[in-house]
Amino acid sequence: MSKFIVGVTGGIGSGKSTVAELFAKLGAGVVDTDAISRQLTSPGGAAIPAIRDKFGEAFINEDGSLNRTVMRDYVFNHPPARKQLERIMHAMIRDAVHAALEAATQPYVLLVVPLLIEVGSYRPLLSRVLVVDCEEELQVQRAAARRDMTPEAVKAIMAAQTDRKTRLRVADDVIENNGDLTSLESVVRSLDRQYRAMASGAN
Ligand code: ADP
Repeated sequence: MSKFIVGVTGGIGSGKSTVAELFAKLGAGVVDTDAISRQLTSPGGAAIPAIRDKFGEAFINEDGSLNRTVMRDYVFNHPPARKQLERIMHAMIRDAVHAALEAATQPYVLLVVPLLIEVGSYRPLLSRVLVVDCEEELQVQRAAARRDMTPEAVKAIMAAQTDRKTRLRVADDVIENNGDLTSLESVVRSLDRQYRAMASGAN
């Protein structure tokens, strides 16, 4: 693909979605694998029949969407089930990502992948990797407030995610999201200028 695609990753609560929104406001395209995953498992979503087949009705809400709470608990305690779910979801997400990237008409596109490091398959598509990083204390506070989770639950997710050092090692660009939203906005504006220049050079 000749498009200029920037992979965006970071831990839970680091600010990936916020950063993506700010780039989108400036005119960048955004493809978000979490959003695609939610869409695939929403009522009538394309992944629902396969999930119902493999896991059973107990995992599907009355409105036809995936029961995320039940599934999260189940795969947490049954690693092989996690693999099965991933097998169902990954291929569908990958196809939807490719279609969305093909369809994008913006000067460059951000591909937001929380598991960019763990799931190697997106790396060949990317022109650059942007890591959103912040102090762990802030990460816990922000993620807990946003998702209505306890700090302990956020910390458990963080412990299961790739550690910051490993993530930072693959970064071409890093946003240190330790300040307020105004300073985040100005960092995004400057990266947007760089990406536009790089994208026009790349075409
Ligand atoms: P992620 O997508 O990485 O999980 P989010 O973008 O959802 O993280 O950010 C988590 C929460 O922190 C959100 O409620 C967001 O509004 C808030 N947030 C992100 N960056 C900042 C910042 N620089 N200042 C204040 N709040 C922020």
